[in-house]
Amino acid sequence: MSEKQIPYKIYLEEAEMPKQWYNVRADMKNKPAPLLNPATLEPMTAEELGAVFCEELVQQELNETDRFIDIPDEIQSFYKMYRPAPLVRAYCLEKKLGTPAKIYYKFEGNNTSGSHKLNSAIAQAYYAKKQGLKGVTTETGAGQWGTALSMACSYFDLDCKVYMVKVSYEQKPFRREVMRTYGASVTPSPSTTTEVGKKILAEHPGTTGSLGCAISEAVEVAVSTEGYRYVLGSVLNQVLLHQSIIGMETKIALDKYGIKPDVIIGCAGGGSNLGGLISPFMGEKLRGEADYQIIAVEPASCPSLTRGKFAYDFCDTGMVCPLAKMYTLGSGFIPSANHAGGLRYHGMSSTLSQLYDDGFMEARSVEQTAVFEAAQQFARIEGILPAPESSHAIRVAIDEALKCKETGEEKTIVFGLTGTGYFDMVAYQKFNDGVMMDYIPTDEDLKPGFDSLPKVDK
Ligand SMILES: *Cc1c(COP(=O)(O)O)cnc(C)c1O
Repeated sequence: MSEKQIPYKIYLEEAEMPKQWYNVRADMKNKPAPLLNPATLEPMTAEELGAVFCEELVQQELNETDRFIDIPDEIQSFYKMYRPAPLVRAYCLEKKLGTPAKIYYKFEGNNTSGSHKLNSAIAQAYYAKKQGLKGVTTETGAGQWGTALSMACSYFDLDCKVYMVKVSYEQKPFRREVMRTYGASVTPSPSTTTEVGKKILAEHPGTTGSLGCAISEAVEVAVSTEGYRYVLGSVLNQVLLHQSIIGMETKIALDKYGIKPDVIIGCAGGGSNLGGLISPFMGEKLRGEADYQIIAVEPASCPSLTRGKFAYDFCDTGMVCPLAKMYTLGSGFIPSANHAGGLRYHGMSSTLSQLYDDGFMEARSVEQTAVFEAAQQFARIEGILPAPESSHAIRVAIDEALKCKETGEEKTIVFGLTGTGYFDMVAYQKFNDGVMMDYIPTDEDLKPGFDSLPKVDK
């Protein structure tokens, strides 16, 4: 098919939309290591996990054999309200860069929550409702996950309790109000509503909180309140499974036009959007059917893949959650100020960590001023105001396209544009005022985090 026939936006018909999620673990020879019980250091059983998470989600978490899992009709219906997400050919950006590369991006910002997180939120709320629960608890850092979950819970008429990192609660009042509009209760964390919160406040009065601390509070409330479970918006296998909708739609759209990507790029916080985007392509790679260059992009200030250790670690600060084997900076690592809140997590999905360790993908870290330069360039030429997190992928996509300009290679580049940045204008303001700083931790800065790693002989 000639170049001219490829439209600016490749949409799918409703009938072409995926009806199953793809479970990449089924095709992995080296499976991701199991979650461990923090008390016994033995693999978590379904029963133990069921005290914290919804039953069916526990099954998905532990399922490493079924390649495909049906998407329930109710979730398919909800997906149809805001999906398929467009796959956009960035003709204007290509022209501006003067590159022979062909650039495509999958845009996940077309829903009120403003990011891909709704894809998993709606699934998790559905299974909670199906189990007959009253509600769910969760944490939110920058606020995207809390917003997505509050939308999903209101749709299924479930109660939603969000623990929001205190500094974000204060700095992002509008995020908070969106959640409250959808009926969620939002508590700044650490709070006096939990034992762990009281303990943290007594030890660190005046603390502005952290994601790891908010997780500990949300888990405590879930396990101590009848009819409630805890849900998480990234990192877990089940979340990568739900997010595979991104990659499956992308693959169907590309296949329609006979396009085969050379490079696939995504930003990586806990790994869910990247894991979802790459999954069907990674599947082909694992089965030896095709080869792709896959690049994870993370902030230089929170470099879990590029500088972390592949080890068992706690997922939270309070050390109440199961241990996961992952690339991590240590649960005691506190990232310095960075405006991509969704990428400020000390660890990484254990599935992606295993794939990275086995050499199936690479990772790069980028500094935030370079990220915002790319964001600004993209906004001015492609129109969309990108989230700071997403702009990490834009940075590397532009870098790769500029390399093609030098070599004359006509590579096809696909990247994930995970969301919009309307709630991140304080960050854009800093950039526009020329006062944004780059923070790169020294090895000495990373040491306390590594020292906090539990000694696990596995
Ligand atoms: C949360 C978030 C991310 C990072 O999370 P992953 O689980 O790594 O995908 C990236 N972009 C946006 C817009 C987000 O909200």
